Amino acid sequence: MDLTESNPDGLGIEVILPDGDKPAPCCPHGPTLLFEKVSKGGNAGRRFYACSACRDRKDCNFFQWEDEKVSEARLLAREAENRSKRQPFTQQEYCKRLEMFVSLPPDKKKFCEDCQTLLLPAEHAAHAAHRTAGVTAAQLRRPSVLLRPLDNKKSHAQYLFTNRSALFLLDALASLGYGKVLCVGAPRLQELIKLRNLEQKQKPMKSLLLDIDFRYAQFYNQEEFCHYNMFNHHFFDGEASSAVLDAFLGEVGGEKVVMVADPPFGGLVKPLANSFSLISQTWRKLQNSGQHNVQMAMMWIFPYFFEPRILECLPSFTMLDYQVDYDNHPLYKHGKKGRRQSPVRVFTNISPKLIVLPKEEGYRFCSICERYVCTLNKHCAKCNICPSKDGREWKHCSSCEKCVKPSWKHCQSCGCCALPDHSCGRGQEKEGCFTCGSLEHKRKSCLLKEAPRRTGFHKKTSQRDRKKSKVKRFVLASSVFLSIFSPSCF
Ligand code: SAH
Ligand code: ZN
Ligand code: ZN
Ligand code: ZN
Ligand code: ZN
Repeated sequence: MDLTESNPDGLGIEVILPDGDKPAPCCPHGPTLLFEKVSKGGNAGRRFYACSACRDRKDCNFFQWEDEKVSEARLLAREAENRSKRQPFTQQEYCKRLEMFVSLPPDKKKFCEDCQTLLLPAEHAAHAAHRTAGVTAAQLRRPSVLLRPLDNKKSHAQYLFTNRSALFLLDALASLGYGKVLCVGAPRLQELIKLRNLEQKQKPMKSLLLDIDFRYAQFYNQEEFCHYNMFNHHFFDGEASSAVLDAFLGEVGGEKVVMVADPPFGGLVKPLANSFSLISQTWRKLQNSGQHNVQMAMMWIFPYFFEPRILECLPSFTMLDYQVDYDNHPLYKHGKKGRRQSPVRVFTNISPKLIVLPKEEGYRFCSICERYVCTLNKHCAKCNICPSKDGREWKHCSSCEKCVKPSWKHCQSCGCCALPDHSCGRGQEKEGCFTCGSLEHKRKSCLLKEAPRRTGFHKKTSQRDRKKSKVKRFVLASSVFLSIFSPSCF
């Protein structure tokens, strides 16, 4: 077994990736993940299975000790529950429904806002008391606008790209010659690809969306959407869906394929990296090139403070300086007062010198680093890198022998740089913000107030939780996703 989610400050919960030996029990989100709590001295704690996709037990309350004997009755009840939570139609059925929907006269094309479904005439009566609205052909092509984004407090919170960011990604990929884009948790990207294809201004791109939000199944055919969980590489439609992915990954006719994934930010890095590696492996097998270390081209969009963890899992990746913005994110969208800095970046195994970042948005090429960087990210001759991660100009500290954030000052008693108002000797992980992991502010002044609870990553909380009952320990299990938000990593 491969120990994965090792926590840098030793207070962690580790995820143990499946090695194919023992199948994990399933929750409605597919195979669960095996977690292990590790205490300070490195003693392994009891292992348990919990949902791979949900961090809030309100969304999925699966919990099982690894060595627990589960009664036949409970297994049956669990299976029944999993069945009852399946989506109402298969992808094939959704596809037929879409065909029928498209052929309806305009006044019969209705969308139920309460149920978030396209309605066929026979279903209108059943939704008579709901809020419904007509759907135009243009709206049908923009499901990410028609559908209500899943909200913040849910595990599957959806933050949709601004046009600016999505078009930047597409232009960059098109100019590198990628003809097929695997969109993992990126519904708006798939949508823009299809819209651009309609314009017929450039070579059409193919796309396939893999997402856990099956509302999107209503808008796409079988070759365009698979209901998928990226934390356990699970296809809800089984073989039928994995065959669709295989067909997409084969580069027949020399069309190059690239993956763009935008997972929820509370997600565990290790299981995500594992799923992406499995996708890359499938791709490699299909290419039959005989080369063992070629990798599928990938872009993984995630906040910059995850850089150490992502590189630990995927050492061939680099982080680009490009700041990805979102339309509906409380923190990361353009404000009235101009642009707020977004902490979200692109991690990729494509050579960074090939990805040209737009000059008009404040990026330049550093010929020493051989990559495009933020204009304010000045090359440091002592570190020999462009050191900034957050878009601001960093400064070199000769005592620390590295560049640090502009707001930090060297502290003699701590022997390192820190915020001027830090409490000496307490270690950095106790500083900073509870909610977003930033060391630049406290929770009180965090802009991300509506964001999901991120209790799990805080040392005090996890110590307190350790003492609580089994039920409470489960809460910890589901908030474990957040325990990797270790601000001390960065
Ligand atoms: N910026 C993207 C959307 C990112 S939001 C865009 O504009 O296209 C995160 C996406 O990941 C959502 O579409 C959400 O439904 C999906 N998602 C969340 N959890 C997932 C999981 N476990 N497996 C697959 N997709 C998931
Ligand atoms: Zn679950
Ligand atoms: Zn440089
Ligand atoms: Zn420096
Ligand atoms: Zn210093």
